[in-house]
Amino acid sequence: MTGASPSLSDLLRRARHILLDFDGPVCSVFAGLPAAEIAERVRGQLLAQGEQLPTQWSTEKDPLALLRYVADTRSDLVPGVDAALTALEIEAVGLSQPTPGSRELLLACADSGRSVSMVSNNSGAAITAFLAAQGLNGYVAGVFGRVPGDPSSMKPSPRLLLEAMEAEATKPEQCIFIGDAARDVEAGEAAGVATIGYANKPGKDVRLADSGAAAVVYSMRTIADAVT
Ligand SMILES: [Mg+2]
Repeated sequence: MTGASPSLSDLLRRARHILLDFDGPVCSVFAGLPAAEIAERVRGQLLAQGEQLPTQWSTEKDPLALLRYVADTRSDLVPGVDAALTALEIEAVGLSQPTPGSRELLLACADSGRSVSMVSNNSGAAITAFLAAQGLNGYVAGVFGRVPGDPSSMKPSPRLLLEAMEAEATKPEQCIFIGDAARDVEAGEAAGVATIGYANKPGKDVRLADSGAAAVVYSMRTIADAVT
């Protein structure tokens, strides 16, 4: 649980394909348009359609959790909710800036011949829009956002990681995953990939380590420096 520990260097040295979670490690998706506001707007759309909202849906502040709830009980509503959420995520990332150190990491990976894939529960369209707006799309080989209309593709499912590895023809031992949530570590484990935890909030370091993260860092710059 240190910065540039030998284990972090070792993990990165052998990795030629970096799998990167988006919200947290690359940008704070909901910094400008809060998650709770997005969940509220999605609910507004459902109410406008004349839908009755179960209590669980009415109080959920995390729009991705709301999408899961909708999928659990009203799969017929998933395509519309996912599309509405995608539009709001695109609006949100337009208000957000890259996480300090993330740009440096993408450049360091390019310089050292490592490929980078985004693996995220967020919408691939929103990720692509953010990368294009930041002039970073040339540094990313592939974007693997949640499968539109299929929230079961979201982490902790390993599906998106497996698709990213297949696209780059890399094996799990040639990859490293960087994420900021326990579900990232779980998805990595299910895909056979070691995960570096990015603890960007108090208490996350313990949760990430307890989940089985191979290393934990407190800044994306630490990872960028280790790659450099
Ligand atoms: Mg994240």
